[in-house]
Amino acid sequence: QFYLERISRYEPSLNSLITTTAERALAQADAADAAIAAGNAGPLTGVPLIQKDIFCTRGVRTSCASKMLDRFISPYDATIVEKLDAAGMPMLGKANMDEFAMGSSNETSWYGAVKNPWDLERVPGGSSGGSVAAVAAGLAPVATATDTGGSIRQPAALTNLTGIKPTYGRVSRYGMIAFASSLDQAGVVARSAEDAAVVLQAMSGFDPRDSTSVDRPVDDYVAALDRPIKGLRIGLPKEYFADGLAPSSRQRIEQAIEVFKTLGATFTEVSLPNSPLSVPTYYVVAPAEASSNLSRFDGVRYGHRSESARTLEEIYKRSRGEGFGAEVQRRIMIGTYVLSHGYYDAYYLQAQKVRRLIFDDFKRAFESCDLLLGPTATDVAFKLGTNVDDPVAMYLNDIYTIAANLAGIPAMSLSCGFVDGLPVGMQLMGNFFDEARMLNAAHQYQ
Ligand code: GLN
Repeated sequence: QFYLERISRYEPSLNSLITTTAERALAQADAADAAIAAGNAGPLTGVPLIQKDIFCTRGVRTSCASKMLDRFISPYDATIVEKLDAAGMPMLGKANMDEFAMGSSNETSWYGAVKNPWDLERVPGGSSGGSVAAVAAGLAPVATATDTGGSIRQPAALTNLTGIKPTYGRVSRYGMIAFASSLDQAGVVARSAEDAAVVLQAMSGFDPRDSTSVDRPVDDYVAALDRPIKGLRIGLPKEYFADGLAPSSRQRIEQAIEVFKTLGATFTEVSLPNSPLSVPTYYVVAPAEASSNLSRFDGVRYGHRSESARTLEEIYKRSRGEGFGAEVQRRIMIGTYVLSHGYYDAYYLQAQKVRRLIFDDFKRAFESCDLLLGPTATDVAFKLGTNVDDPVAMYLNDIYTIAANLAGIPAMSLSCGFVDGLPVGMQLMGNFFDEARMLNAAHQYQ
């Protein structure tokens, strides 16, 4: 009730939710009360959450912020929705996002842009902009999010939150609408590493319904939080501190490094020489996979169907033309181009080779370090409308976050201060399945 009241008070100025599910939340809260009374409560029983609208929720609209799916009611729950339900978390609603998670500012949503609660004229970041705006404004204690190239970390950085993208394969993608399947990973945004650890614990684990899910025991993230970090070896990738990083953000990160030093961590400079190639590589691989994944939205099997179509070809063309926004259409065209006969070797295959080199950079770095630390974003949140007419400028926002997705390693963002009242984030990256160590370091810092 407390959060539902905050939603009715603040949501009109934020636009962070596509759907509010008050009745469902209250029924789940009653069930949680009963579980508590019966002595069956777990750590998350009765703790409300908001689900990003990319996760299928049975009986509730799952739109992916697209006109294409505006009327789609999912017949089943995503695995993580099932798991968090089972943990006793009432779902307050479905968060706004960039359309099909394509964007860095939440301005591509068919339901309109989301405002940053720290300054309503600025973007909250994207694509998980609704998730972070809602949590930062106290409309829910935590929210789920997804990260294909930075969509958990960059929005968390821009709103003073902690957000974690686990190792590829750690959290099930079943029921999470696919953007770029080899990069997509689900995670959580919260007010602290401790909150994030408790929720991630409940989300993680093998799922036979997702063929890329990894069958390996989940570490105890919560138990690891209180370990001292004396002797932790942290690498600073020199390419992440070069031109392009706002000096004021760099200064906040340098202050955080001093805090880590007082906690006993040691720092060394490392090099990720192929980092400048990560944005161009991503913008071949991600659109290629998107063009394939989004072919299912044809106006017949799923989604919006044009009312003016008379022939089969017109159904396809008009339904997709009307149902998808400009950014989604751009990605489908880029993807189709790089996969087409005659260009496949020059673009797609080449990108796959560079992806391997980026992976090798991390492998080398983790031979001498436990974690890597750098910026999450180039600067604080920008004003709404700044980059909407310049897709390449928008794509360059992801310069520090994309490499972790291409390599598949876990990465998180946490706040390291403010510049002129706006939050600055820093990023921690870890070796495969080293979420516990990252969350531990973040918790000790916080
Ligand atoms: N901003 C990136 C993109 O537009 C990443 C989005 C994401 O992680 N879902 O593709």
